[in-house]
Amino acid sequence: MASIKENVERILKELPAGVELVAAAKTKTPAEILEAVEAGIKIIGENYVQEAAEAFAVVGRRGKWHFIGHLQTNKAKKAVEIFDMIETVDSPDLAREIDKRSRNAGKVMPVLIEINSGEEGQKFGVRPKDAEALIREIAPLQNIRIEGLMTMGPFEGDPEDARPYFKITKQLFDAFKALALPGVEMKWLSMGMTNSYPVAIEEGANMVRIGTKIFGPRI
Ligand SMILES: *Cc1c(COP(=O)(O)O)cnc(C)c1O
Repeated sequence: MASIKENVERILKELPAGVELVAAAKTKTPAEILEAVEAGIKIIGENYVQEAAEAFAVVGRRGKWHFIGHLQTNKAKKAVEIFDMIETVDSPDLAREIDKRSRNAGKVMPVLIEINSGEEGQKFGVRPKDAEALIREIAPLQNIRIEGLMTMGPFEGDPEDARPYFKITKQLFDAFKALALPGVEMKWLSMGMTNSYPVAIEEGANMVRIGTKIFGPRI
């Protein structure tokens, strides 16, 4: 099996210019994450605040930290200390909590809105039809800055199955960009994982979240 270093170098070489790579590091050790960062990873994606805190204690600001899991409001304070972006905002309550905690910390937190593009199939994220209302509601918050959209799509199976969900999310991204709302900068479209990222990039992703192809399978 190829090393983390070899995997990172290969993926970085093959990604088109302008596409950011987030190394999705859930269940991986601080040492593995550090190896990825030393091989050229700039952004680490974490799903759990506690796991991130342990990795952060070792890796620190040698990488940027993106939260890509489901954030519970009672973890927002700790999340704001560690993370440089929260990719999974899907409710006004969560946005307000991040805003409040960021204000207390003297920060403005970049966030993405998580779109439940698969509707029934996914637990988290805002439904496409409700996304504009959510963005309009939270855009005035002073200590978050909406910088784009994130979606998951189906996890397994034929990556072609994910294409319709990526298309829906890209359409929303373009529509919200055209609205040009104050406090909103539609800059990042985060979609695609190990099996689906080539399709996601074809559909307009400029941020991909890759775990298995960097770190190997999770056990
Ligand atoms: C685990 C995870 C990924 C990466 O999944 P792989 O299939 O291992 O590449 C991407 N995004 C999120 C939100 C994840 O939880």
